[in-house]
Amino acid sequence: MAELVFLIVCVAGAFLLAMRRAPLWGWTVALAATLVVWQSELLWGEAGALEPGFFGVIGWLLVAALALLSVPAIRRATLVAPLFKTVKGILPKVSATEQAALDAGTMGFDAELFSGTPDWDKLRAVPPITLTTEEQAFIDGPTNELCRLVNDWTIRFNNREVPAEIWDFVKRNGFLGMLISKEHGGLGFSPQAQSIILGRIASRSPDVCTLVMVPNSLGPGELIEKYGTPEQKDHYLPRLAQGLEVPCFGLTGPTSGSDAATMRDVGYVTKGWHEGQEVIGFRASWEKRYITLAPQATLVGLAVRLIDTQNLLGRGEDLGITVALIPANHPGVEIGRRHLPGGSAFPNGPIWGRDVFIPIEWVIGGEKMVGQGWRMLMECLAAGRSISLPSSAAAGAKSLLRNTSAYARVRKQFDLPIGKMEGLEEPLARMIENAYVNEAARGVTASMVSRGEKPSVISAIMKYQTTERMRRSLNDAMDLHGGRGVCDGPTNYLQAAYQAMPVAITVEGANILTRSLITFAQGALRSHPYLYKEVQACQDIDEERGLAAFDRAFSGHMAFTMSNLFGALFHNLTFGYFGHVPEKAYGTAEWYRQLWRSSRNFAFVADVSVAVLGGGLKTRQKVTGRLADALSELYLLSCVLKRYEDDGKPANDRHIVELAARNGLFRFQEALRGSVDNFPSTPVRWLMRAVVYPLGLHYKPAPDRLGHICVGLVLTPGEVRDRLTRYVYVSQDPKDPTGLLELAFTKAVAAEGAEKKLDRAVRSGQVRRVHGTDWIGDAAKLGILSDDEARLLREVESLTARVIAVDHFDPAEVRPNYMTPGHNARAMQSAAE
Ligand SMILES: Cc1cc2nc3c(=O)[nH]c(=O)nc-3n(C[C@H](O)[C@H](O)[C@H](O)COP(=O)(O)OP(=O)(O)OC[C@H]3O[C@@H](n4cnc5c(N)ncnc54)[C@H](O)[C@@H]3O)c2cc1C
Repeated sequence: MAELVFLIVCVAGAFLLAMRRAPLWGWTVALAATLVVWQSELLWGEAGALEPGFFGVIGWLLVAALALLSVPAIRRATLVAPLFKTVKGILPKVSATEQAALDAGTMGFDAELFSGTPDWDKLRAVPPITLTTEEQAFIDGPTNELCRLVNDWTIRFNNREVPAEIWDFVKRNGFLGMLISKEHGGLGFSPQAQSIILGRIASRSPDVCTLVMVPNSLGPGELIEKYGTPEQKDHYLPRLAQGLEVPCFGLTGPTSGSDAATMRDVGYVTKGWHEGQEVIGFRASWEKRYITLAPQATLVGLAVRLIDTQNLLGRGEDLGITVALIPANHPGVEIGRRHLPGGSAFPNGPIWGRDVFIPIEWVIGGEKMVGQGWRMLMECLAAGRSISLPSSAAAGAKSLLRNTSAYARVRKQFDLPIGKMEGLEEPLARMIENAYVNEAARGVTASMVSRGEKPSVISAIMKYQTTERMRRSLNDAMDLHGGRGVCDGPTNYLQAAYQAMPVAITVEGANILTRSLITFAQGALRSHPYLYKEVQACQDIDEERGLAAFDRAFSGHMAFTMSNLFGALFHNLTFGYFGHVPEKAYGTAEWYRQLWRSSRNFAFVADVSVAVLGGGLKTRQKVTGRLADALSELYLLSCVLKRYEDDGKPANDRHIVELAARNGLFRFQEALRGSVDNFPSTPVRWLMRAVVYPLGLHYKPAPDRLGHICVGLVLTPGEVRDRLTRYVYVSQDPKDPTGLLELAFTKAVAAEGAEKKLDRAVRSGQVRRVHGTDWIGDAAKLGILSDDEARLLREVESLTARVIAVDHFDPAEVRPNYMTPGHNARAMQSAAE
C-alpha cells in the first residue's frame, strides 16, 4: 500500500512540476527528495529500508547531472553551447523579405493559443463591436442608399462595368477615403466601421464592394497615410478621399504571383529630366497583371526592385523592393486594357511600362524609403487582411443564409417547404454555423485591429477561413436553390457572389498558400513563446550575447515542452474537466474547458513538430496545413464564445453556439489527428498519439437534433434570424428580388395554418390543385378556409410564383454588348503577343 501511495505521489509531483514549468533546480530538488524518501526508514520501516542498489545509483547520478546543469555557466559550456553551434549551422539564413514578413504585425490571441494555457481575460478584454454616432449614421444613410441604388444585373451583365452614377455617389460621399484620416480630408473611420460598411455593400454587389474596398485596403491611400512624405500626404490624401484620384496597386506580374517578392520588374537608378530639371530617379520596366481598378485608375502604386549600379544613392547596388506613386497618364505607362475576372464587372487589368523615368521623389516616403517596399506591404497586410476579405466573406455567409432560409421556407416540393426536409436541414445547419462563426470572428478581429493591433497570424487565419466558409455556404445555397440558383438573370441573387467567389479565394494570398505555408509557419515563429527568440539568438552577430539569449530561450523552451507534454496528457486523461474556465462563464463553461484542453494538445503537437521538423517544416505542407486548420478552429471557437458573451448570451443563440462548438472541436480533432497520423517520424508519432489520444478520440460532430433546432430558428422570422444576419443589407422593396423574397417568406409563415388546412383538403380529395381549377376558391366555398385565409393564401401563391420564377431571354438579348465584332480575334492576338 505504501508503495502505491509513494508511486502516486511521485507521478502527481512530476505532473505538477512539469505543468508549472518548474526550473531545472526544481526538478533536481524534487528528484533528490524522492530518492531520500525512497531509501529512508520513514517510508518502509527500519527493516525494509532499501539499499541504494543499481537504480539508486542511477538516480543519484541524475540528481548530480541536473544539479550541475542548473548552474548557468556549466549548462552553457556543456550543453547549450554545442547545441547553439549545431542549430546555427543548420538554420537557414532568414532572407530580408522573410524577415520583413516575420517582423510585420503584432502577436494577438494566437500567442495565447500557442501557449497551451490561454488567458481568457485577454480575449474578454477585446472591446465589443462599437461604432461612433457618425459611423452609424453613415451606415444608415449613404451606405444604405448606395445599396438601394445598385442594380447587380445591369452592372454584371448589361454594362459589364460599374455605372458612372455609382462611381459618382461613392466618390461624393467619401467612400473611397474611409481609412484616410479626417486631418487629410478622409472619413477616418475605425476598421470595425469600415468592415461593417464593406460587408453591407458586399451583401448587395461584390463589384461595387470592390470599388470601395480596394482604395481602402493595401494601396496608395494606406501607404501614403502611413509612410508618405508630408508633401505626398498634403497633395494626394485629400484628392484620394474625395475621389479626385482613383488608385490602384500593382504588385503581381506573370512570373511573380504568390511569390511576389521575386519580381523581375526593375528600376535602374539614374539621372533624368523631370519638370525641366535634372534629378535622380530610376528607369523602370515592368509587367503587372490582375490589377484591380487599373483600367480606370489615375494613380498607380507600383512595386519594383531598385538597382543602383552607379551607387548614386550611396547605399550599394541591390536596394530592394520599392513602391512609387505614378500618375496613370505619365509618359510610358500603358494602362487601360481589361481582364475579365469570372463574371465580375469591376475594373481589373494589366499595366506595362518600359524604360519609364520616375523621379525619386515619387517613391512613397521619399528617398529614405527606397528599398522598404516589402516591409511596408507586409506591415499593412498584417492588419488589412483582417478587414477587407473577411468583411465580405462574413457578409456573404450572412446574406446567403438570409435569402436561402427564406427560399427554403417559401419553396415547396412534396407538399413540404424544402427547408423542412432532413436532407436540406444539413446544408442549412452548416450555413447557420458559417454565418455565426464568420461574423463572430469578423467582429472580434475588427475590434482587435480597431484598438491598434496588427495581428499577422490571425489575419492569415481570417483570410483563408472566412472565404473558405463563404465558399461552402455558396455551394450549399446553390444546392438548396436547385435550378433557380443556376439560371442567371436579373432576379438571381446568388450568381454575383458565385462568380466572384474565386476572386476572394485568390487575392491577398491565395488560400492554399495562406493555409499551408503562411499561417502555421509564421504562427510557429511569431506566436510560439520561445522559438522566435531562439532563431533571433542564432542570428545575433555577437556570439556571446547570442549564446546567452539562446540559453534563456532554450531553458524556457524545455520547461514549456515538458509542461505541454504532461499538461496535454493530464487534461486528456481527465477529459478536460480541470481546464481553466473564466469567471461567469454560465452556459459556456464546458466549451472553455475543452478549448483549454485542445489548446494544450495543439501546443504540444505544434511544439514537437517544430522541434523535429525544423527548417523542413516549409516543405511539409500537409502537416503545417492541418496544424493551421487546428489553430484556426481554436481561434474561431474563442471568437464564438466572445461574441455570445458580447451579445448578452441570448437564450436561443446557445443552440447555435453549441452547434459551432461541437463541430469546431470535432474539426480541430480531425485536423490534429491528420497531422499526428501522418507525422514523418514513427517514434514521435507514437509519442504524440500516446499523449493526445490516451483514451482514444474524444469529440463527435454536433448531433442531428441540434441542427434541427437551429434550422427551425431560421425558418421563422424573428430575432435569431435577424441577429444571425446582422449588418447585411435587407431590402424591403417587393420590386427587388431579395425584397420580394423577404415579403413572400413573412407571408408564407403567416399563412402556415391556412396552408395546412388546404393541404389536408387536397390530400383527402375535397379540392383539386391542378392548372385550370381555383383550389383556394373551392376550399373557401366548402368552408375549409375563411375569406381572410383565402385572401392570404392567394397572396402567398402569387408571391411564391414570382419568387420561384426563373428569368428567360430572347436570344438577341443575351449577346454580351461589350463584345464588338473582331473582339475575340484581337483579344487572342494580344494574349499571344
Ligand atoms: C481578380 C483579381 C484581382 C487582383 N488584384 C490585384 C491587385 O490589385 N494588385 C496586385 O498586385 N495583385 C492583384 N491580384 C493578384 C493576386 O494577388 C494573385 O493572383 C495571387 O497572389 C496569386 O498569384 P497567381 O494568381 O499568380 O497564382 P500562383 O502564384 O501561380 O498560385 C497558384 C496556386 O499555387 C498555390 N501556391 C503557390 N505557391 C505556393 C506555396 N509555396 N505553397 C503552397 N501553395 C502555393 C497558390 O495558393 C495557388 O493555389 C489579383 C488577382 C485577381 C485574380
